[in-house]
Amino acid sequence: MKHNDYVNKQVNKNAFFIKKKFSQNFLLDENIIEKIVASGEIDQETCVIEIGPGFGALTKHIVKYAKKVLLYEIDQELIPHLNHLFRNHDNLSIIQKDFLKVENIDKDISTYFGDAKVVVMSNLPYHITTPIIMKILEESQRVNRMVLMMQLEVAKRLTSMPNTKDYNALSIIIQDQTEAKYLFKVPKTVFKPKPKVDSAVIRLDIRKERLRNPEFYQFIHKCFTQRRKTLTNNLNQAYNLDKTYIHRLLNEMHLQENIRAEALDIIQLKKIFSKLEEEGLR
Ligand code: SAH
Repeated sequence: MKHNDYVNKQVNKNAFFIKKKFSQNFLLDENIIEKIVASGEIDQETCVIEIGPGFGALTKHIVKYAKKVLLYEIDQELIPHLNHLFRNHDNLSIIQKDFLKVENIDKDISTYFGDAKVVVMSNLPYHITTPIIMKILEESQRVNRMVLMMQLEVAKRLTSMPNTKDYNALSIIIQDQTEAKYLFKVPKTVFKPKPKVDSAVIRLDIRKERLRNPEFYQFIHKCFTQRRKTLTNNLNQAYNLDKTYIHRLLNEMHLQENIRAEALDIIQLKKIFSKLEEEGLR
């Protein structure tokens, strides 16, 4: 049976109860589904984690290309469907769990995948987009790439550049950890039930040499506390720093005294942070 017929049958006959609290919006359009999976550039050496497989829209294609697949699905009611749909695939395992409660992602990865390359794919539950991404970046050393569908606005923010309206603290933190690429928009009409917002797919290639510096990320958040304020004002308020001192620092870097955080790229922000740290920033 075709995928959209299968989903429509479950949903229209009320055989399956759609749960809003799990952000369930199932993909129906085969072309889009294939396009998303193709963006993962999965080969026979790659193992794939999928978060929230639902009725297996993406999974059906992922299993064709990947070495092994591991699914995390929170909704118990979907597990029998997944077991049935993938009964003939021995390269796929299913864990019924809230992904945010997974205790040790890398342990699961070595148990199921050994040393293989790992890609995460997901049509994310939109209400927990950021927590899922941050959990992976903070807790896993093994994931190489993520291909994620999310709300269009969030996709734009995560991949945005300085001096654009979408650029904020989160853009910087994500781009410090990954090479973030906006791929394409997905209209709301290809889901059942139809969400209120459009979606987009992004790819995050996780940097090999990455350092996570929580103090730096806290600093970034402080720089953007009040977006319309100057960097000097935000830093003055957050750290009680002398404004003339900040101005001198900006002058040294050939930056305007009234510059806002949104005009600075990550290299400039890092430079400011390390200078302030030398002075004993708290
Ligand atoms: N991949 C499917 C479904 C996407 S909807 C498709 O594209 O059609 C989001 C999916 O994430 C649902 O299956 C939902 O049950 C699941 N989900 C929601 N919260 C989750 C969580 N915390 N952990 C794991 N899965 C979750």
